Amino acid sequence: MAEEKLPAWNELPPGAVILEPGSSEKRYTGDWRIFRPVLNQDKCIRCLLCWVYCPDDAFYFEDEPYVTSKGRKYKFSLKINYDHCKGCGICVEECPVNAIDFVEEVK
Ligand code: SF4
Ligand code: SF4
Repeated sequence: MAEEKLPAWNELPPGAVILEPGSSEKRYTGDWRIFRPVLNQDKCIRCLLCWVYCPDDAFYFEDEPYVTSKGRKYKFSLKINYDHCKGCGICVEECPVNAIDFVEEVK
């Protein structure tokens, strides 16, 4: 049997380098998750910090108007794409009004 030839160090692809913007859209990291962020539409003030900080571009907007229990009106709702959310918890930490709960993932 022929011996497998391993690549030399300078033939390896670069690691920990983002080679193109938006490449996280092509990765489905949802099955990494052990905790799940759950967004509370009523508490959310639509500041979009979670959308800015999410490393996996998991937040998206839906043209779904929402009126909070206190009567505040929003023209859109914010959703989480769980195919992309890896459960890192950054959004939970960054939300200024604690509108995202972090609950144990049940599969
Ligand atoms: S837990 Fe991490 S990956 Fe999931 S939505 Fe929040 S910031 Fe994005
Ligand atoms: S950071 Fe919190 S308040 Fe701001 S949009 Fe996200 S969930 Fe809503």
